[in-house]
Amino acid sequence: MTDHTLTVAGVSVDTRHWIGGERVASGETFTDVSPIDGSVIGEISRGTATEAAAAVAAAKAAFPAWAATPRAERARILHAVADGVEKRLEELAVVETTDNGALLRSHRRGVMPRVAHNFRFFADWLLKLDHEDFETRGHTNHVSWDPAGPSVLITPWNAPLMLATWKVAPALAAGNTVVLKPAEWSPLTASLLADIAAEAGLPAGVLNVVQGYGSEIGDALTSHPDVRRISFTGSVPTARRIAASAAANLTPLSLELGGKSPLLVFADADLDLAVDLAVEQYDNAGQVCLAATRLLVEESVAEEFTRRFVDKASTLKQGDPRDEATDIGPTVHPRQLEKIDGFVRRAVAAGARAVIGGRRKDGQYYAPTLLTEVAQDSEIVQEEVFGPVLTLQTFTTEDEAVRLANDTRFGLAATLATGDHERAARVTARLVAGTVWVNCFFVRDLQAPFGGSRHSGVGREGGTWSFDFYCDLKNTVTAPKGWKDHG
Ligand code: NAD
Repeated sequence: MTDHTLTVAGVSVDTRHWIGGERVASGETFTDVSPIDGSVIGEISRGTATEAAAAVAAAKAAFPAWAATPRAERARILHAVADGVEKRLEELAVVETTDNGALLRSHRRGVMPRVAHNFRFFADWLLKLDHEDFETRGHTNHVSWDPAGPSVLITPWNAPLMLATWKVAPALAAGNTVVLKPAEWSPLTASLLADIAAEAGLPAGVLNVVQGYGSEIGDALTSHPDVRRISFTGSVPTARRIAASAAANLTPLSLELGGKSPLLVFADADLDLAVDLAVEQYDNAGQVCLAATRLLVEESVAEEFTRRFVDKASTLKQGDPRDEATDIGPTVHPRQLEKIDGFVRRAVAAGARAVIGGRRKDGQYYAPTLLTEVAQDSEIVQEEVFGPVLTLQTFTTEDEAVRLANDTRFGLAATLATGDHERAARVTARLVAGTVWVNCFFVRDLQAPFGGSRHSGVGREGGTWSFDFYCDLKNTVTAPKGWKDHG
């Protein structure tokens, strides 16, 4: 065991970058800390412009051969990566939980199987990616998806490997090579992914992983002239910096950003279902971009809804995310905890009432919180908290519900609880949101377009939309044999 290997929950994790099929250390490191108890996990190589340039150069060198690799062979290797993820599922789950504090039971049963599925889905989709040829005055039009080139993928900490592979898998399937930069608060599973990909036979340089602070390594990646695509999931302020940096080369961007999504509860809803949907918003300690953090409840049922919500929320068990019985784990980092606490304090100072929660607990834990008496234009209603904090407002008409739902700068998702399908169709048509769930939440299929409107993002990914983003689409027009007329 070298200095560069950590043992995390019994699993060996290399702390160096993965560039051109080799482990590369930086002189400087940053400290990775577990949110579970604040203990130091270890020192991680801290990349700078030097490592960024080396990783992009490796991706550039590997690109022609990978792009020319037959689709079936690319798909075979991606399935082998999925096999490796499944084989190491338990290791990935415990390392991820140690690193970002999300529930181990979710990692085991939902998240890591989904990581493997990301690879399988895009491998299979690649094989059926096609567009029927069509004719123009006897000429044949043939549409092809040409791999775009080296792609920089930058990801956040709230679902590290899930969100990384949601980008890595389609980028690789498309024939692109990749430089992945995981978040500095949760870098470990990206390093394990590099090992798994290498074992699966992914050629050197096709997947590169560089670690470090976005402020130190980010610009060098996003302003690099050899980078052909940038896909980013994270916050709006970072997205602005990346967009400005990418502007130098007009590098196409995919941006998956924040949200302030509503859950609309109509009086005709199954109230128990509505309460279940509302309480589910505390998952991952509320650190979910899609979370419906604004409960908009029809006034005639608001009191009853609130009573049942409080009853249900009081049964949630908060504690160690490794414990199978735990429902809510810690927040990811002391800075995140501070941020959440600041939002709630300012809201209460401005007149909000904490029906439950509204306070920090020991360690990095924040009590699940419901705030009422909040104004529509207040910070707590308009800004993303990214913690276990929900607001509740009431409405009396469908028009008012839609107006409140749409009245933020975001447009990522919306959830409706209603027993009236005609109402659901009417309201859905008027909502600004990339995804609308009716009487359900978080049901996601990789075939569906995913993304946000307004400040929640730019572009859509999923199914063919992912290939559209990661490829240069080409239309080839061929004249019929013997054709002479150029008119
Ligand atoms: P963040 O923007 O602070 O960081 C995200 C990533 O960007 C990290 O890897 C970080 O190192 C990197 N980064 C920071 N500065 C950079 C720069 N100048 N250049 C390049 N990279 C840079 O976001 P976060 O706090 O890690 O994540 C939380 C945010 O992510 C929330 O707003 C949440 O809503 C959003 N999110 C969105 C989705 C979605 O699919 N829409 C999913 C999950 C999270």
